[in-house]
Amino acid sequence: MTTTFDAIIIGTGQAGPSLAGRLTAAGMKVAVIERGRFGGTCVNTGCTPTKTMVASAYAARVARRAADFGVAIGGPITVDMKQVKARRDAITGKSSKGIESWLKGMANCTVFEGQARFASAHEVTVGPARLSAERFFINTGARPSVPPLPGLDHVKYFTSDSLLDIDFLPRHLIIVGGGYIGLEFGQMYRRFGSEVTIIETGARLMQREDEDVSAAIKDILEQEGINMRLNAACIALSMQGDDVVAGVDCDSESREVRGSHVLVAVGRRPNTDDLGLEKAGIEMDKHGYIAVDDQLRTNVPGIWALGDCNGKGAFTHTSYNDFEIVAANLLNNDTRRVSDRHTAYAVYIDPPLGRAGMTEAEVRKSGRPALMGQRTMARVTRAIEKGETNGFMKILVDAQTHEILGAAILGVGGDEAIHCVLDAMYAKAPYTIVQRAVHIHPTVAELIPTILGELKPLPVALDS
Ligand SMILES: Cc1cc2nc3c(=O)[nH]c(=O)nc-3n(C[C@H](O)[C@H](O)[C@H](O)COP(=O)(O)OP(=O)(O)OC[C@H]3O[C@@H](n4cnc5c(N)ncnc54)[C@H](O)[C@@H]3O)c2cc1C
Repeated sequence: MTTTFDAIIIGTGQAGPSLAGRLTAAGMKVAVIERGRFGGTCVNTGCTPTKTMVASAYAARVARRAADFGVAIGGPITVDMKQVKARRDAITGKSSKGIESWLKGMANCTVFEGQARFASAHEVTVGPARLSAERFFINTGARPSVPPLPGLDHVKYFTSDSLLDIDFLPRHLIIVGGGYIGLEFGQMYRRFGSEVTIIETGARLMQREDEDVSAAIKDILEQEGINMRLNAACIALSMQGDDVVAGVDCDSESREVRGSHVLVAVGRRPNTDDLGLEKAGIEMDKHGYIAVDDQLRTNVPGIWALGDCNGKGAFTHTSYNDFEIVAANLLNNDTRRVSDRHTAYAVYIDPPLGRAGMTEAEVRKSGRPALMGQRTMARVTRAIEKGETNGFMKILVDAQTHEILGAAILGVGGDEAIHCVLDAMYAKAPYTIVQRAVHIHPTVAELIPTILGELKPLPVALDS
């Protein structure tokens, strides 16, 4: 027997639950299907658990530096990993439970727990249940991708999901991948007390960032004693006794890294391969992302895809914005679009990197006349007072329109201060408005007007 709904939402990530709230409030009978923990990646295995652990790692770091601030601790600093995990699990558990209770208590909403699969463009199955609807919203997210590295099958390795299950300190954590997930885990485990080596096939960490940003991040991590193996042309893993050995064909003197545990953090793949999309005729791109238009419609009328599974963003805020776009178009006659969105994200190493808009390399490549201003965090009073002067900030401006094109703030408070720039970009305000704004002293953001008062022409790349 088939049960019919007005709308079916698959996945309870960052878009699905809020969409269920809006659709049911609009009078629709909605089914929500979840196969795992409510709240999806961010709440259970992504942002919240990692940032909770980053906070524990920061506490350990500050405690070790206590003497720099005139504070005597009088003993060695140790980290209780069981407590770190317990604190984290309490926070994530509360969020996940909150979303589950919200959905289960929502009027007009029926929750199904299990794996959803399309049977046709109008029907899905969840275990023995068959559900049909005129509208489907796919919010199935992504999972860690595991590349076929030679020897990987013969070693015990972790992904960003399974590393969260442990409550002990790895003696030496080898991290394959120098992207944001690898770096966040690397720095936190180093601060907890592990030896950490990051292996990256590219010539630098965070390869989509500007070279100066990558270099500054590398310095910050190396200052804390994290080992780097860049240009690792060929990575092979094996066990030697209790040790994991990573063969690294790179240009450093040592070709082998010997550690106790391995984290594979080389990217994520969309959860679209087990959804029966072919039965519904839903198109994907070559990487498995569901193809959508600017308003998140798939090629099949009545089916939308939101969040990481559509490849239009890979963040909590982009997934939530997908919900806002779909809800606005469906319920408010407001034609919001993905292309209205500016690139924005943070990398939660300490100090964090806040990013908005284009990188310097992208601006140079575009060939447009541009201006750039920058300042090291060693010349930011707030950073000096806090004893956290690593990093720098830079802002890029269109020389003709005076609109802000992009910014990077790598430094204490960078994840917050970047929003001054981001909001000005959304307002399409000329940079002079921000330059003349009076910001609060002492803050990191107070230097943004100063930087905008010191802009210099950006030389155009020769190959642009
Ligand atoms: C370690 C880590 C740290 C991160 N840190 C940040 C950060 O600091 N800031 C940030 O913005 N982003 C961060 N992210 C990314 C962020 O978590 C994701 O972009 C975000 O959670 C994507 O949400 P989503 O709505 O696409 O789906 P998800 O949150 O991935 O949820 C998808 C849900 O769908 C369910 N599902 C999948 N397939 C099916 C099916 N067939 N049937 C039923 N249910 C199904 C899954 O069980 C899951 O609950 C991080 C990610 C990781 C891994």
